[in-house]
Amino acid sequence: MQRFDQRFLQDMKQRLELELLGVAQLGESTAVKVKQDAETLLPGATAVIVLGKEIYQEVVSLLKPSKEAGEAEAGALLNPHYTYLNGRLTKAIYDMAKLFRNQGFRALPLPPSGIPTDQRTLVSIFSYKHAAVSAGLGTIGRSGLLITRKFGPRVRLCALLTDAPLEQSPVPQESYCKDCHACIRVCPAHALETPNDGEFYSINKFACRSYRGVGFTCSMCMKVCQSGQN
Ligand code: SF4
Ligand code: SF4
Repeated sequence: MQRFDQRFLQDMKQRLELELLGVAQLGESTAVKVKQDAETLLPGATAVIVLGKEIYQEVVSLLKPSKEAGEAEAGALLNPHYTYLNGRLTKAIYDMAKLFRNQGFRALPLPPSGIPTDQRTLVSIFSYKHAAVSAGLGTIGRSGLLITRKFGPRVRLCALLTDAPLEQSPVPQESYCKDCHACIRVCPAHALETPNDGEFYSINKFACRSYRGVGFTCSMCMKVCQSGQN
């Protein structure tokens, strides 16, 4: 039988042309909500694999908080870039699922876009960013985004639930957020606030969605992030 060790995962990462790949075993150290949602979606799942691709800095640098009526917005190039990244991630996650299923394990791919989300609360059926934290890919920033060591928040994610025996990836011990509050200052919708004691971030998801719903690509919180700049 195939061994699903770190070497296998690194090989998969290279073959599938991914920039990020991490595994969270669904045990004691995994966030409670991630474990609960995984158990609901795939009862008996023992691990979640989180895959990621870099969002290009060249595209992110074109983002602006607003535009004149009728103006061509260069930042809207983020949308076709996401289409490209989503396509690559979707293929990767289904190829990986096929591999596990061919070995007799169960696997549920969760794609990079189209994850069912409750429109009353804006909570999806599975949080990639919290799974990514458990899988060692990064930490949560003041923006509420996943912050990775190399790319900061410029990452696109998807996930795979499985009962294949996988090794836990190492988890960073320090936050990758530089606590500069640039994301809070720049947010044109005032959706980000300085969090209360005991919280690391505070976001009004409805304010963010409303702002972007009137046609702006926004993502200024991603553009200004001081972490992972290159
Ligand atoms: S994407 Fe949302 S949270 Fe981020 S800066 Fe824009 S409105 Fe604010
Ligand atoms: S902009 Fe600054 S405070 Fe906000 S997530 Fe990035 S590093 Fe953290």
